Amino acid sequence: MNAEIIAVGSELLLGQINNTNAKFLSQQLADLGVNVFYHTVVGDNAGRLESAIKIAENRAELIIFTGGLGPTKDDLTKETIAKHLQTNLVMDDTALASIEEYFKRTNRPMTENNRKQALVLSGAKVLPNDYGMAPGMFYQTENKQYMLLPGPPKEMEPMFLKYGFSAIKSQSVEEAVISSRVLRFFGIGEAMLEAEIEDILDNQTNPTIAPLAGDHEVTLRLTAKHHNLDAALTLLEEKEKEIMAVVGDYFYGYDDTSLFKELSKRMQEKKLTLSAAESLTGGMFQETFTSIPGAGGLINGGVVCYTNEVKAKVLNVKLETIKNEGVVSATCAKELAENVAKLMESDIGVSFTGVAGPDELEGNPVGTVYIGIYHDGEARAEKLNLGGSRTSIRKRSSLYGAYFLLKS
Ligand code: ATP
Ligand code: MG
Repeated sequence: MNAEIIAVGSELLLGQINNTNAKFLSQQLADLGVNVFYHTVVGDNAGRLESAIKIAENRAELIIFTGGLGPTKDDLTKETIAKHLQTNLVMDDTALASIEEYFKRTNRPMTENNRKQALVLSGAKVLPNDYGMAPGMFYQTENKQYMLLPGPPKEMEPMFLKYGFSAIKSQSVEEAVISSRVLRFFGIGEAMLEAEIEDILDNQTNPTIAPLAGDHEVTLRLTAKHHNLDAALTLLEEKEKEIMAVVGDYFYGYDDTSLFKELSKRMQEKKLTLSAAESLTGGMFQETFTSIPGAGGLINGGVVCYTNEVKAKVLNVKLETIKNEGVVSATCAKELAENVAKLMESDIGVSFTGVAGPDELEGNPVGTVYIGIYHDGEARAEKLNLGGSRTSIRKRSSLYGAYFLLKS
């Protein structure tokens, strides 16, 4: 099955908001194995909306609309679709009751316009709106399916997840189970990862493999179809093994995890505590780590050691290290990691020292970073040469810290 998403709203065309609804729906449809071939954006205009519908009907079996279900004059999505499909709008009692209930609860007067929100296409399956007033709809003709969803993401997303997803799934995959998983990689760029697994990507059929570059990481979404769930899972596992044999070194987790979530999980399992000495990251590593729920109790404390004096006086970096090798050095990183762990009585120490720019430091070019790791009585340092802006160098250093800890 293939789908088209039509986002209705002049504010989208005026560049006032981003079309995040299309992004969200495309990701969800990929999970269902539904191909999205087109995104359309059209303003709040009945004539242009109707021509967009006609075009979409020529190239998609499922058409999903977002926006224009509200009570105001410019909300004309369902009226236009009803006219186009030559069907009526009828009052949905359940939706009307929930709108009335909403006004009673909030003590506000209800207008005729608000009643209009409970009108639905005759014969449509109604998708309840748990976070707003306008209900969604799923309407089928002999060979097309139409889904109408509200514009606000806070209403649209839960409605789709709770009611829309299953309505489409029961149509699209009677004969097949669809199972998918996301593999997450760090420390390798998208182009490099794709080059490494080029043969696997070129020969994909079932599962399909969709690479995506994320926030400083790359993901592969594997989607398998089979009439039997176990068989679908086996297909996923086999493909995953093939991929891991090539790029497994960069793999760190599945689905919606993150480097810091994985690190926190691992440390909890092993009952380890950690401390960080942060020069170039200025506390960013600890900020990110402590924002993970459940990370409390894993960090004993840490030091932001920006100046040489603090490195020397608080963290006992040897003066000869600073004089002979500089603070941007493997030796300094190792001393920082070891000394911060000992100072805070933590099992693990991690440190960040380097040059985030704009100027070079001690003759080291911008992007030179040393990350020290102290664990089990041993200190080591990793050197990175990072490109990009100051913000990106600091952010990636912090992520690399989590990655090295996870891999050690
Ligand atoms: P309402 O009852 O709030 O009027 P509606 O279904 O009529 O809902 P619209 O009036 O089209 O929806 O849009 C309401 C708001 O929802 C917009 O101002 C915007 O903030 C958000 N929105 C609409 N379409 C999108 C979209 N495609 N992506 C992201 N946000 C959107
Ligand atoms: Mg509206």
